[in-house]
Amino acid sequence: MTDPLGDLVRARGLRLTEPRRRVLAVLARGEHMTPEVLTHLVSRDGGRELPPSTIYRTLQSLEDVEIVTHTHLDHGPATYHLARPHRHLHLVCRGCKSVLEMPTEAADGLVAQVLADSGFRADPTHMAIHGHCARCADPDLTTDRGDR
Ligand SMILES: [Zn+2]
Ligand SMILES: [Zn+2]
Ligand SMILES: [Zn+2]
Repeated sequence: MTDPLGDLVRARGLRLTEPRRRVLAVLARGEHMTPEVLTHLVSRDGGRELPPSTIYRTLQSLEDVEIVTHTHLDHGPATYHLARPHRHLHLVCRGCKSVLEMPTEAADGLVAQVLADSGFRADPTHMAIHGHCARCADPDLTTDRGDR
């Protein structure tokens, strides 16, 4: 049986411990999860209970070797996800709280401008960009229906 995540953990020089295996299995679902949600979901996979401190330590060790990364979607706790297929911008709607994902290329202009002006290498994926989705924005601004 192939285990790409397990292979990746070993390739980065870590042992594939039981907590690491279980945390990665939950993160592989591809959602953004706070440590609290992760603790809850891991506890429901049929294995033994893992305390939040173990979940935090596990996330930290996986983040140190860049298998896991986190994004701040709002003022609450950071959300974690696999680093790999997960490189995108997060657009969070202030109205309905939905999270829209966009390719990082959408920020290329900003990143290039910042780099050219200051030499700073911006990472636009770490924090979400807040605003209003098309549905929550003022309909008069988003639809072109002429005068009423
Ligand atoms: Zn952070
Ligand atoms: Zn994301
Ligand atoms: Zn919205």
